[in-house]
Amino acid sequence: MDRSANAAGVLEHSDTGAQENRVVTEEEWLQKWEMRNIGFHKEQGHPLLQKYLDVLLGGRSGLRIFFPLCGKAVDMKRLADMGHHVVGVEVSEQALKEFFAEHSLPYSEEPVPEIPGAKKLQSTSGNISLYCCSIYDLSSSVVGKFDGFWDRGALVAVNPCDRQRYASLMITLMEQNSSYLLVTVSYDPTKHKGPPFYVPESEINSLFDALGESLKFILRLWIRGGWERPGAWGKCSMMSCTGLPGFLPEKGDWLDKMIGEMEASVQGCLNSARIIAMEELLLMSELCEVPKLKTIKN
Ligand code: SAH
Repeated sequence: MDRSANAAGVLEHSDTGAQENRVVTEEEWLQKWEMRNIGFHKEQGHPLLQKYLDVLLGGRSGLRIFFPLCGKAVDMKRLADMGHHVVGVEVSEQALKEFFAEHSLPYSEEPVPEIPGAKKLQSTSGNISLYCCSIYDLSSSVVGKFDGFWDRGALVAVNPCDRQRYASLMITLMEQNSSYLLVTVSYDPTKHKGPPFYVPESEINSLFDALGESLKFILRLWIRGGWERPGAWGKCSMMSCTGLPGFLPEKGDWLDKMIGEMEASVQGCLNSARIIAMEELLLMSELCEVPKLKTIKN
């Protein structure tokens, strides 16, 4: 496996060329939904959002929160229940209808005058608005700007050739003090064609370059969070962050202790970071060398 350490000492896969030209069409995504090929969906919500919710919200209430490529993420309901206004965009109408049905939420449907063929599905209570169209059809003049972003299964689902366009769009949707939680995945890109695609840290940095040094991604949490797939996954978790050496631990109580110390040491950064990237590890044994990790609470 071709891996090298970046400036922070975090191991990165360098052979990203294998995925560069891969294109998944909207039609293929619709088919995934039809065929129930939706292993990415988390019935219980995402543990990383749970864990870093305070970072996303920063103690603020009544935020506008964006879920790009939202699928039927149950966290949208959760954040709306907390009093925030949630906006999502998803190409599959089936996914959006399942979202409302599964949460027994009444909703109304209306066309979006600025986007031919698009629909807006809005909860009757008005605090969840889901656009059924391509993300690339949106602009701040249609959806406004956002205080918080939950990007999970989004940047990593975008075709590699569209990444810059996607990131530039996200930047135009950011409010002044917005926070952006980005979840990426880590595995050897020569062993799986994606999606989810492998997006190295260096690329995340350059994608969000327009935000400038002080505003862009300043902290990277490397979290072994688990990826649900029948038969081939477990749960383990660890983190490292910029400034701390990357490592592949073996086992022992020292790991718990080290994680505790790291978490404490990054709290300050977490409060000031604008974009926080985290990795969820694909625990498919053929895709990554899963080290002898100790199972840790998530
Ligand atoms: N974020 C969700 C879904 C991740 S899978 C979650 O974490 O569960 C990626 C989703 O993006 C799929 O539901 C797919 O239908 C949708 N999608 C793919 N390309 C899209 C595009 N160009 N515009 C909007 N949605 C898209």
